[in-house]
Amino acid sequence: MASTYQNLIGDRWAAAASGATFTSVSPANHEDVIGEFPASGPADVDAAVAAARAAYPGWSLMPAPKRGEILFKVARLLAEHKEELARLMTREMGKVLPEARGDVQEAIDVAYYMAGEGRRLFGQTVPSEMPDKFAMAIRRPIGVAGIITPWNFPIAIPAWKLFPALICGNTAVLKPASDTPACVVRFVELLREGGVPAGVVNVVTGSGTEVGHALVDHPDVRLISFTGHTETGVEISRRAAETLKRVSLELGGKNPIVIWEDADLDLALDSVVWSAFGTSGQRCTAASRIVVHRSIHDRFVQVLRDRVAKLVLGDGLEETTDVGPVINDRAVERIAAYAAIGRDEGELVIGGEPARDGSLASGSFFQPTIFAEVRPDARIAQEEIFGPVTSVIPVDSWEETVEVVNGVKYGLSTSLFTRDINLAFRSIRDFDSGLGYVNHGTIGAEAHLPFGGVKATGNGHREVGQAALEFFSEWKSVYIDYSGRLQRAQIDTTFVDQE
Ligand code: NAP
Repeated sequence: MASTYQNLIGDRWAAAASGATFTSVSPANHEDVIGEFPASGPADVDAAVAAARAAYPGWSLMPAPKRGEILFKVARLLAEHKEELARLMTREMGKVLPEARGDVQEAIDVAYYMAGEGRRLFGQTVPSEMPDKFAMAIRRPIGVAGIITPWNFPIAIPAWKLFPALICGNTAVLKPASDTPACVVRFVELLREGGVPAGVVNVVTGSGTEVGHALVDHPDVRLISFTGHTETGVEISRRAAETLKRVSLELGGKNPIVIWEDADLDLALDSVVWSAFGTSGQRCTAASRIVVHRSIHDRFVQVLRDRVAKLVLGDGLEETTDVGPVINDRAVERIAAYAAIGRDEGELVIGGEPARDGSLASGSFFQPTIFAEVRPDARIAQEEIFGPVTSVIPVDSWEETVEVVNGVKYGLSTSLFTRDINLAFRSIRDFDSGLGYVNHGTIGAEAHLPFGGVKATGNGHREVGQAALEFFSEWKSVYIDYSGRLQRAQIDTTFVDQE
């Protein structure tokens, strides 16, 4: 029998007020039911926001180093439970076990990093322009954060958002993706066990239109941190404007790996296979465009084809599996529709169909797919497919390369393989993206540098690293005048006038 899960509201686990539920099933085998979850609605969001508001004074007044100590304990607990969490993740969303372990490790890394921030949270002190006056800027928490997360990094992304929110002194209501609620509930159970007080983190499961809308519209939610599709981000942004919320959006990508004629081809090949087909191509940073110098195009397509032909599809819990399922059957249909479009837009090199052989028939699988000789303006080279499909685009010159790289609406991650140091630096300067790699694929960001993209990939905020603190805190400038007399800024310019 499937386990029954509940929402976390303050210190109690509760069913949806309506009593309605939905199920989460494994994409590798639809008969493997992970659990029943509350199909919550606005009443549940109201209760969770009230709990987060009630917890806010205590949490925001706790000294930040003490909040950091709690996050430190959480980091250690996550590390102790890494294998359990990774196995649950592979079962619930399909990524192969080593990648699921990496997802949990990212949460551990961010927890340690943000725990340390508890003893920094640096402000600024600057000299005042007046004598006998002290000037500084301090960070203040903001209030209740609404956190809406996708299924592709079901533990890392909630961690990216929650840990900086918490270290800055905010409380939170988290709405997980409906495809991965079990991962998030287990993650939050460990936060509670690590000492995060009741009400500081609340979880409400349910659909984007019921729970997501209620969170975004709620007048007591001061900020929304969202990761997901660009279209969803635009809608959230519009709705949140009604209550003047601060909104951070991390959205889609159409990331290129450029392989120049002087590149180390073996290294480039390894990196393309990893970046295009890791997580079955369902990473926001997945390499869905391979921009190759025409002089090596045919040779590269041949070696890539030979390598991809050897990839083993299957359940991510099996050690022999290279590529797991995609998230659900709707995704299989969407990817198949793009593969059909691709047949008119390029040359199908390999794949192109759902995979239904043997045990794959009981899950949601799609063959790793390559199109070659793709024009940069083709739909498969412009739109985010979010599956194991990549397009090889030939180019003749560096100028054309820059045009192709930048000629999409997104701007998350870009990569260049070359031995030419001048081109390497030009790529960093000229490619429009929030992440730039040289001689490394488009995936694999680390927890202590800013993460995010430009153009339709976001609205300018960044996750993790120091940059995340900018979103989850507000600046307050403070002036302390110890002169004992009225000093008028910009008017009493004594020192200048004396000259
Ligand atoms: P999604 O469909 O936009 O959903 C993301 C989250 O938003 C889910 O919790 C979803 O709930 C909720 N939601 C859906 N519609 C909503 C609405 N109208 N109002 C409020 N919330 C709503 O995206 P996804 O399929 O989970 O994730 C894949 C996308 O995320 C891709 O585009 C990928 O590139 C992007 N992504 C970006 C980054 C980055 O950092 N830039 C990282 C990872 C993923 P339900 O699950 O209940 O529908």
